[in-house]
Amino acid sequence: MANADLVILGGGSGGYACALRASELGMSVILIDKDKLGGTCLHRGCIPTKALLHAAEVADSAKESGAFGVRATFEGIDMPKVNEYRDGVVGRLYKGLQGLVKSRNVTFVEGSGRLVAPDTVEVNGERYTGTTVVLATGSYSRSLPGLEISGRIMTSDQALNLDYVPKSVVVLGGGVIGVEFASVWKSFGADVTIVEALPNLVPNEDIACSKALERAFRKRGIAFSLGVRFASATQDDAGVHVTLEDGKQFDAELLLVAVGRGPNTADMGFEEQGVAMERGWVLVDERLRTNVPGVFAVGDITPGLQLAHRGFSQGIFVAEELGGLNPVVIADVNIPRVTYCEPEVASVGLTEAQAREVHGNNVAVYEYNLGGNGKSQILATTGFIKLVQVTDGPVVGIHMVGSRIGEQIGEAQLIVNWEAHPDDVATLVHAHPTQNEAMGEAHLALAGKPLHAHA
Ligand SMILES: Cc1cc2nc3c(=O)[nH]c(=O)nc-3n(C[C@H](O)[C@H](O)[C@H](O)COP(=O)(O)OP(=O)(O)OC[C@H]3O[C@@H](n4cnc5c(N)ncnc54)[C@H](O)[C@@H]3O)c2cc1C
Repeated sequence: MANADLVILGGGSGGYACALRASELGMSVILIDKDKLGGTCLHRGCIPTKALLHAAEVADSAKESGAFGVRATFEGIDMPKVNEYRDGVVGRLYKGLQGLVKSRNVTFVEGSGRLVAPDTVEVNGERYTGTTVVLATGSYSRSLPGLEISGRIMTSDQALNLDYVPKSVVVLGGGVIGVEFASVWKSFGADVTIVEALPNLVPNEDIACSKALERAFRKRGIAFSLGVRFASATQDDAGVHVTLEDGKQFDAELLLVAVGRGPNTADMGFEEQGVAMERGWVLVDERLRTNVPGVFAVGDITPGLQLAHRGFSQGIFVAEELGGLNPVVIADVNIPRVTYCEPEVASVGLTEAQAREVHGNNVAVYEYNLGGNGKSQILATTGFIKLVQVTDGPVVGIHMVGSRIGEQIGEAQLIVNWEAHPDDVATLVHAHPTQNEAMGEAHLALAGKPLHAHA
């Protein structure tokens, strides 16, 4: 039996951030994970997929080099080498994280944990008791009823480990994970078709972003079917055969199922200990407390955005709450979101439709076209930065599409979270030539003094 101020179940983004901050604040911490420290994001999510997307960008650069006067030929993708590069990135970060956790005196326990009392987690017959317990067991790739994950039908977990580029793929789901894999595979040379039941790709984004991404994907030769639901899929030696509810059929070498992620909470003793849950999600209040005193939950197991930086922030929040620092509540709406396909989609705050639901007609919108931005021209990208403002008030939403535009989310999230008015941003100087200038230009225009844009 071991005791600590804090016992954390799950060492992913939410769990390890909580552990690091809590130990910084002087608490003793036991961090439990049945797998590798770093969780989904480091080993099966954010980092490995972004390494693949970078390799995809390099492939596109080689293919398009002639347009820039550079003679290069694209000879193909050496997938084992791509994976080696990806594993190198993950491996270095993993090593760094292990060292960090060790250096902060966090006790890492490897094994599958179960909540056996509100203050106790059992691992391999050993009991770990904390003044506080934090649940951070993350999420898993979901499938659809009757759609078994095996062979040619896979989720992102298996897709990440392919050692070849498929000739053709059907991607079921046009959300973040679906469009990112579609983008990688297209750049690597596969024929890609996305099947999305809702009327648009990236359906949680502002409709302007969805439409722009659809146009860009069409131009890249990525096919998609929108607004019709998946009916069934079969597989044989020849490939997968996917049928939609309207009878349309798609054949491909592989089917990627990217229909969302569910909470990883089954059989861990949460219900038995009285933790309130809904369809597997652990319910928390705005200070991330469950209904059981002394038990908190962070990250993907709580309803809301499933993003690594949300998990990090929530983990830090709980540590600071326990340390008596009274941290500021984290609102999901103002958490930045980036979809790293080509072109990228990045946003923070309310979409135009959401702003109109809250503020009615009291909403002003401005869309700055990247056509007027020098660096975007140099990069040969198209896209826009769209601002959503409460009339004569703060900017409450920023929505962007374009190559590398995800890098602009830093300033965008400051603007929205600090409730800046267009005039506040218009006075700031943006370096030339950067795509960041487009952020300044958009605010200049909304403040009534456009420079490289029409009023
Ligand atoms: C393909 C893909 C791409 C993604 N890309 C991005 C991105 O670009 N940006 C972004 O912000 N987010 C991205 N995400 C989402 C991001 O990975 C998650 O939001 C984040 O990992 C959630 O952190 P978490 O701590 O809640 O859970 P996880 O990272 O899933 O960690 C949970 C941990 O708990 C452990 N665990 C579970 N049950 C037990 C148990 N009973 N006992 C012991 N240990 C247990 C697991 O082994 C795991 O290590 C992506 C996800 C995927 C799948």
